[in-house]
Amino acid sequence: MSTDRFETLAIHAGQQPDPTTGAVMTPVYFTSTYAQSGPGEHKGFEYSRTRNPTRDALQGCLAALESGKHALAFASGLAATDAVLHLLSAGDHLVLSDDLYGGTFRLADKVFKRLGIEQTFVDVTDPRAVAAAFRPNTKLLWVETPTNPMLKICDLAALASICSPRGVISVCDNTFATPFFQRPLELGFDVVAHSMTKYLNGHSDVVAGALAVRRDDLHEKLAFLQNAVGAQLGPMDSFLVLRGLKTLHVRMERHQQNAQRVAEALQRHKRVQRVTWPGLPEHPQHALAARQMKGFGGMLTCVIEGGLPAARTFLKTLRLWTCAESLGGVESLIEHPAIMTHASVPPETRRKLGIDDGFIRLSVGIENAQDLIDDLFQALDRT
Ligand SMILES: *Cc1c(COP(=O)(O)O)cnc(C)c1O
Repeated sequence: MSTDRFETLAIHAGQQPDPTTGAVMTPVYFTSTYAQSGPGEHKGFEYSRTRNPTRDALQGCLAALESGKHALAFASGLAATDAVLHLLSAGDHLVLSDDLYGGTFRLADKVFKRLGIEQTFVDVTDPRAVAAAFRPNTKLLWVETPTNPMLKICDLAALASICSPRGVISVCDNTFATPFFQRPLELGFDVVAHSMTKYLNGHSDVVAGALAVRRDDLHEKLAFLQNAVGAQLGPMDSFLVLRGLKTLHVRMERHQQNAQRVAEALQRHKRVQRVTWPGLPEHPQHALAARQMKGFGGMLTCVIEGGLPAARTFLKTLRLWTCAESLGGVESLIEHPAIMTHASVPPETRRKLGIDDGFIRLSVGIENAQDLIDDLFQALDRT
């Protein structure tokens, strides 16, 4: 590709008109196998668990957007996470952020712990705490930034510089920021993980995941695991995510504009005790976010007065906002983390983090901002 500018890469990287017909859009290659002209004589495609042209196009596009060299597309974000954690062996030690997507916590705590992977959860906003948690057998660091759901920001360059001299593989789940706002590989991270279910696909109609890397050695190991385990993304879903990626930059700009309008409006409502969005000057890591990210994203949280009864009334009274898990689609979604997405996080951890009864998470969509605010206010007025 003759450019490294994001908007052009989002539309063209990894793709070219189909060599047989000239079709401008990448065909959906619904095939499990490929004809060989003789045993072992093929065009690079043997079996679709290993390689499929539609998945190749998506992987090429995502690798370019993350400024990586390789990407791998999986059947879900957690399938991608599972491949990364399979780099570890029994007796290895894993350091994770203490504020994580609930499913990542569950996979580490309920599956990989049982397989003999030692684990420590730390507040990754403090790089010294991360360094202090490292042991001689520490092999991998897993972080999110902004975190789900507390929207804390960690310093990726500082964490990468702690990991690389020790040979610890650094992994950043970039689902919330997307490569449009933040590129961890450029800051020294080894692996970027995604739930493409969210912003990358952007239309709430696919479950998918991905990894992006620069290092050839890591790509080789992860591609081996993807093929050995078999949780790769199918061609139809690959096509849909590839189509979603073409508008990522346009969507993310509007998500962030609307999030700013909604955050500032919520701050003015008397039933709202606290609003958290990395773009607000009072966010504890606002300066770091402004330095590390090109924008602040479309996710925000608020705490409303009146605890659980008020939160229930609020969520039931909304008309435009849909009460649902997930995030990152064009439509606005709202949810109650303690009951919904983060129910698998132990109650004492939830309390420590601040995921309490009046705590609400919003995925601000790209509808008209005033309509979104009017709906929030009519529902808050009834709590
Ligand atoms: C949703 C999500 C995941 C899991 O992805 P799935 O596609 O649902 O498997 C991982 N990390 C974050 C930050 C998420 O929001």
